[in-house]
Amino acid sequence: MNRILAILVGWAQAVDRRIDDGIGAGGLAPHVRKALMRQQLASIAQMTPALFVSGLVVTLCFALLTWGQKELAPTVLCGLLINALYLYGVQRTRRPAPQSDNRIVAAAVWTMVSCMVQGALWGIMLNILPVDGSLAIQSAAIVGVGGLLCITMTAVVNYPQAMLAFAGPLVVGAMLSLAEVTGEAASWIQVPMILGVAIGMFIVSLRHAAEFVAHRASETQVAEKREIIALLLREFEQTTSDWIWGFDEQGRINRISAGFNTATGVSEAALTGAGFVHFLRALTVPDDPLMAHLEADIAARQSFRDIELRVIADGRECWWTLTGKPAFDESGWYLGYIGTGSDVTERRTAERRITILAHHDPLTGLLNRTKFVDQLSQCVGRLERYGAPFTLLVLNLDQFRQVNERHGHQAGDRLLEHVARRIEGSVRATDLAARIGGDEFAVILPGVGVAESVAMIAERLIAAINQPFVVDGQALQIGTSIGIALAPMDGQRPDLIQRNADIALARAKADGRSGYRFFESGLDMLATERRQQEAQLRDAIDQGELVLHYQPLVSAVDGEPTGFEALLRWNHKTRGLVCPADFIPLAEQSGLIVEIGDWSIAQACLAAADWPAHLSVAVNLSSRHFRRSDIAMVIKRALSISGIAPERLEIEVTEGLLMENSDGVAEKLAEIHALGVTIALDDFGSGYASLGYLLRYPIGKIKIDRSFVAASNVDAVARDTLKAIALMGKTLKLKITAEGVETREQAELLSDMAYHQLQGFYFARPIEPVDLPHYLLTHVLARTHAAKAEVEETLAALRA
Ligand code: C2E
Ligand code: CA
Ligand code: CA
Repeated sequence: MNRILAILVGWAQAVDRRIDDGIGAGGLAPHVRKALMRQQLASIAQMTPALFVSGLVVTLCFALLTWGQKELAPTVLCGLLINALYLYGVQRTRRPAPQSDNRIVAAAVWTMVSCMVQGALWGIMLNILPVDGSLAIQSAAIVGVGGLLCITMTAVVNYPQAMLAFAGPLVVGAMLSLAEVTGEAASWIQVPMILGVAIGMFIVSLRHAAEFVAHRASETQVAEKREIIALLLREFEQTTSDWIWGFDEQGRINRISAGFNTATGVSEAALTGAGFVHFLRALTVPDDPLMAHLEADIAARQSFRDIELRVIADGRECWWTLTGKPAFDESGWYLGYIGTGSDVTERRTAERRITILAHHDPLTGLLNRTKFVDQLSQCVGRLERYGAPFTLLVLNLDQFRQVNERHGHQAGDRLLEHVARRIEGSVRATDLAARIGGDEFAVILPGVGVAESVAMIAERLIAAINQPFVVDGQALQIGTSIGIALAPMDGQRPDLIQRNADIALARAKADGRSGYRFFESGLDMLATERRQQEAQLRDAIDQGELVLHYQPLVSAVDGEPTGFEALLRWNHKTRGLVCPADFIPLAEQSGLIVEIGDWSIAQACLAAADWPAHLSVAVNLSSRHFRRSDIAMVIKRALSISGIAPERLEIEVTEGLLMENSDGVAEKLAEIHALGVTIALDDFGSGYASLGYLLRYPIGKIKIDRSFVAASNVDAVARDTLKAIALMGKTLKLKITAEGVETREQAELLSDMAYHQLQGFYFARPIEPVDLPHYLLTHVLARTHAAKAEVEETLAALRA
């Protein structure tokens, strides 16, 4: 018995497999097959109520047909059994669909058994019915059973195994019932008919099931894929800080992950349906080129990758990168975009910090030298491309070294920080301030090329830095000098512009503290030339190329020499005899004037020591020399070394010196006067000719400027001036000298005006030291001898 059952089960399984293969369910993965089977069973279960109703109707009809006959009871019994099965089936459909594999198999077995039992019961019913009786019963049986067959087969059409289980016993039953109606040829005809219909139905069921399987399998697979994708996406969101976004073909956001909500601070409900591009535009700055790039890509339905946008989200500045891809369905229909995004603010901030460190001076936070050079090149680039002018200011702090020495380097550092803040405060945010050296700063003013505006900014910077600083509770005072170069005027190459600003700075420094200087064209050439000349002049002093020539001063009364004025000459190797006007300014600028002036005084005194004692010597003093040298000390030494009487020495100063009106000048003049040395005011009348100076300072002599003498021939005003000055001299008890006397008329005029001394080419040109003894011999000693002879002659005459 068991063996038979095993054979039957094995047989049933073989059939099941064959049918599965036939409908294309054989090759499916077991879990897909199970899912499919569940759907097959469900489609049958759906039909069970209809089967129940129709089964009940057919049973009732058969009961009526057999009413009062012996067949009534078995017919009704079969009908009730069938309907009980249907009812049970209806009952089962109310339960939740089976999920576990075992329950699916159990449900399948039950369906098969139920179908088989139904088929068998209907088959039995056909045999019970008195079909050999009336034609009415015969046709009722055919319609009833045939109809049920159709309904049942329709119900199980998706599950050919169930169809077979139902149809098998029913067909057998039908055959048996036909066998009862023996002899009638028409009845035998029904056999192939029944078989044909059953086989046809089975084939239809196979085709139908195959389609069902194909459809459902692909549906299952799609659902499965979707599930996997959802799973992966969920995983992606949980493991990374990135988010997912998507929008439909209209550009409306239709997919948003929680990360995106957090990033934007906008709820999912508010975001869903909003225009994606519109939303982003509201977060980014207007005209962001990258936003435009993104919009263009979306408009062209192109993929984009890692577009980095600066956004203001949730009230703070953030950086997002967005990657997106257009989506299309199988037919190529555009569905919108799907993409990812992430917040890269932290990375950007870190990058920015690194850039700041690389481009800024760590102490002051201003641009460092490297970045400054880079910016300068960029300005030159803009100058070349658009002709945009700009200005470079270089600042060097005055007395910063002293602060470092006196208060320590820490205080120096603090001070530099304060200076940087003041520089920043004095210029616009678009200007570029840099620290390019220890106490050297630079400011680039892009777009500024007008000297007046630059001068205003330079003055503002100087004023700001001149204000005292408070560092560690101490007030510190420094200043700054500024050199300015305007581009393109002062250069069109970064190195040239910087060099010229440096030259201007050196000039500003040389001029004294807290000033600014513009670079002057050709200044650099002059500067080099000047440096060379300076070196030459220094050599000249060392090698004794400087010499003094001596021009006689004569008495206006008798033309007898009363002394000499020492006039400086440079006996240059190649240039020959160079006039003082050509090198005194250089000596003054370089400071060599002190050395030269001191030497002239000493040299003139030494020379005078060889002359007859009644002859004086006059030395010209430059204001710079006077201010910088301890002049009284120098004179004292010169007098003592040469041994000449102080009264023989005259110092010629100009009005320029007196105009300075400072205590130092007055004191020094007083000291010189106290030594017994005469102070002469040279070139009188060429300047202010102020009477005040003559009263305030110990002036012993005035030398009227030679221009008056020169003009006296033709100009009555000049003559009046000469006369007025002579009168003033007499009133103030000053010696009056006229220089530049070139003619006899001038000499006579001046003599008539009671001038004391005269000087000029009419009497003598400046004399070289080698020629001096001869002059002295012929003009001084000879006359002295002549006077001696005259006296002797007179004495002899008296004696006689
Ligand atoms: P200064 O003090 O007015 O000197 C007189 C200048 O007049 C001299 O020129 C002299 O040669 C010139 N001179 C004399 N007589 C006549 C004349 O009849 N006609 C004309 N046209 N010129 C006459 P020099 O030697 O070229 O000196 C020019 C200036 O250089 C001097 O003007 C003086 O200011 C300055 N200087 C000369 N020697 C020295 C010096 O040792 N030290 C300083 N600091 N300055 C000096
Ligand atoms: Ca003079
Ligand atoms: Ca003079």
